[in-house]
Amino acid sequence: MMNPMNLAGAAVRSRLPYLRMEPDELVSRIQAVRENWGSKLLILGHHYQRDDVIALADLRGDSYQLSEMAASNKQCRAIVFCGVHFMAETADILANQPAHVERRGGRRVDVVLPELEAGCSMADLADIDAVETCWRQLADVIDVDEVTPVTYINSAASLKAFCGRHGGIVCTSSNAAAVLDWAFAQRPRVLFFPDQHLGRNTALAMGTTPDRMPVWDPEQPILGGNQATAIAAGRVILWRGHCSVHQVFLPEHVRDIRRRVPGIKVIVHPECRHDVVAEADLAGSTGRIIREVEAAPPGTRWAIGTELNLVKRLGREHPEQEIHPLGPSMAVCPTMFLIDRARLCWSLENLAAGTPVNVIRVDDETARWALVALKRMLEVK
Ligand code: SF4
Repeated sequence: MMNPMNLAGAAVRSRLPYLRMEPDELVSRIQAVRENWGSKLLILGHHYQRDDVIALADLRGDSYQLSEMAASNKQCRAIVFCGVHFMAETADILANQPAHVERRGGRRVDVVLPELEAGCSMADLADIDAVETCWRQLADVIDVDEVTPVTYINSAASLKAFCGRHGGIVCTSSNAAAVLDWAFAQRPRVLFFPDQHLGRNTALAMGTTPDRMPVWDPEQPILGGNQATAIAAGRVILWRGHCSVHQVFLPEHVRDIRRRVPGIKVIVHPECRHDVVAEADLAGSTGRIIREVEAAPPGTRWAIGTELNLVKRLGREHPEQEIHPLGPSMAVCPTMFLIDRARLCWSLENLAAGTPVNVIRVDDETARWALVALKRMLEVK
């Protein structure tokens, strides 16, 4: 059998010709693989993908919706995830959970990420070693049996597994409040990672005061830079992580657009800083932002504080409304943007040739515990 490293090296070299192909050729080759595979292949496109990739996707959604749709699909034999690394991991965990593999007679679904460099800057701000260190240090000053670890779905599988092992849970930006309710019903404190902003915005809206939300800085060697008394008083311990895309929005952007566009409604994603959320009219997940725009009467004026590809697409799909990006137009997810038609075509043709590349496979033990935390989330209403 060929060494996987050699196979990966050979496949990476073969990517070059695709990078030189004309767009029309790429599209027709991608379509040929799609037609050939039919319902056995699912191409998933995250809302933040560029339009030319979204146009070739079978399903469009946020990270969890896409993984769920893929996991519940019975015909699918391969998933090509046009998103980022943690999304492909989640798809692998859900699509290849033991009950599903057994139902398929032992066959796994290959989950392919067309570009391995497509990571997530937020997910990268919390790694398992740093979280384990945090947990050990917390145990020196408080009873960790009183702490429920909660990870945002935008995190590595190892962190989801950590939550599974320690009675914790996963959340998304649309169910974070319900998940925190669940967590507080189990234990009086929460350790929330990796996004401090989603944790803070959600907990503040639920009535937790800022003085009970110490921020754990993993760069600080002792107690994340906190006094033991601050940790002991803490109800929600927030990991010092953020999304580099949503962090660009500032309160002055909200004030500026209100001055320039009378009657505008400002809606932002809860990964934005709290002072931005506080000045906005609405805050909600990607799915909520889309639903609010779809439900609004013609002529509604919006400023939307989230990833630019989605905002521009909403503007094109809703010409009856006036849609502005919030702030300077820099809010493109740079890693999501790495995926293009060339990489999609390259990964599809390798898959079709029986030499799949960039297959994301979570090891069994990590997947087992991560699934525990994901299933707890699914049970939260
Ligand atoms: S938009 Fe932010 S949170 Fe989402 S994938 Fe990109 S870096 Fe990660």
